[in-house]
Amino acid sequence: MRLTKIVATLGPASLSFDGIQSLVAAGVSVFRLNCSHLSTQDLPKAISLVREAAPHTGIMVDIQGPKLRFAPMSLDLETGSNVSFKLSDLGIESSQGDGSRGLAIGHRILMDDGRIETVVEDITGNEFSLRVVRGGYLQQGKGVNLPDTEVRGSVLSQKDLDDLTVARDLGVEIVAVSFVQTPNDVISIRELVGEDIMVFAKIERPQALARIDEICAVSDGVMAARGDLGVETPYESVPDAQSRIALSALRQGVVSICATEMLESMTTSSRPTRAEVADVSGAVRDGFDAVMLSGETAVGLNPSEAVRAMARICQESEKHVSMPNYFADENPGAAAVTAAASALAKRTSAKFILSISLSGFSARLMASCRPSCPIVAITPSDDRSRQLNVNRGVYPLVLERDRNFTSAVTSAIKLTKDIGMLQSGDEIVVCASRLHPRSDADTILLHREP
Ligand code: PEP
Repeated sequence: MRLTKIVATLGPASLSFDGIQSLVAAGVSVFRLNCSHLSTQDLPKAISLVREAAPHTGIMVDIQGPKLRFAPMSLDLETGSNVSFKLSDLGIESSQGDGSRGLAIGHRILMDDGRIETVVEDITGNEFSLRVVRGGYLQQGKGVNLPDTEVRGSVLSQKDLDDLTVARDLGVEIVAVSFVQTPNDVISIRELVGEDIMVFAKIERPQALARIDEICAVSDGVMAARGDLGVETPYESVPDAQSRIALSALRQGVVSICATEMLESMTTSSRPTRAEVADVSGAVRDGFDAVMLSGETAVGLNPSEAVRAMARICQESEKHVSMPNYFADENPGAAAVTAAASALAKRTSAKFILSISLSGFSARLMASCRPSCPIVAITPSDDRSRQLNVNRGVYPLVLERDRNFTSAVTSAIKLTKDIGMLQSGDEIVVCASRLHPRSDADTILLHREP
């Protein structure tokens, strides 16, 4: 059983009943619906289709956020020349927040994935005078990045608010928030969607990277969104940034996803490059819960083949990785029993850990301890079970709640046996709460199947 989970982005190449089913068969645990490429009208249809085709798989709705685009026209920007733009030409609404939205003299404005670089030399009212540091042909609609600017005012557009309402009303498992800058950006989304949906912060701005610990503290998960991160910070710093994101998440026990261009060449080819194989393997070694496919599954030649390749690389890399228990070291009180169960499973080479979890909380704690074997999580609800799909190593199963500890454990063991996970002679570690079902686990059992 593979430990690292696979998140796949759905798009024209895969957003069909059969397409979704074949991706699940190939190994996808969570589907990402990217609101940058889906209208609010199409979002409910896409969610219903995933529910129909893959009722046990998690859904992550990725909110577009303030993706800035150069609007007026295509033009040639000559290196060393000066050019003037209005704030609205760059896709920035000046009506929200204050006039310049935080842009100041000396700030860089990057265009077209950072290929063109300009710097603000003067600001008069709403008009910006820029010097072109690295020129090129700028096509209308190309992306704009403001790496030096903490953009003031709300980061949400009306479309974002409408997409969040759909995500909340249809009860998806995760919303991912683009261009987070501060912990408050996450807190305000949680107020909008409520406590039952997990909120993941996409780390793609240097301002967010600088506050990674604070952002992890208020998020259910973080995504190393390396596409924009590699524009807003020098691309050579992205590998270190992703390791820092993974480590902060590990220490605080929140979910982490490594995203973008992981198997990019498989959008058009049937085999990954060696560099891509090393990249996926690096994410496994960093300790991410999940790795994500974007264009490979959304518009690629063979989405299922990309998922199978990713699964193979993860599984092979996991053989050579033993993760330290950063979470328990950081939270000795909260994870004491769970960490002991995780260590016991390692020592006894247990086949899996059986975590009996009412809300999913203790199964998530167990995943944070990074045991070297899978965690079979027993929860009483489909919703909780689908959420657990994104956690490293967690294989959720639904079983009606039994308030009697002994019979709850017996039925959970029987279920794993009935579905062929547990076989005669197998040794497993059971971890559950006998006293307070909603708390950290308090009981460990070593079980050998006769
Ligand atoms: C990224 O920038 O890496 C990312 C995942 O975000 P998006 O695909 O929305 O640009």
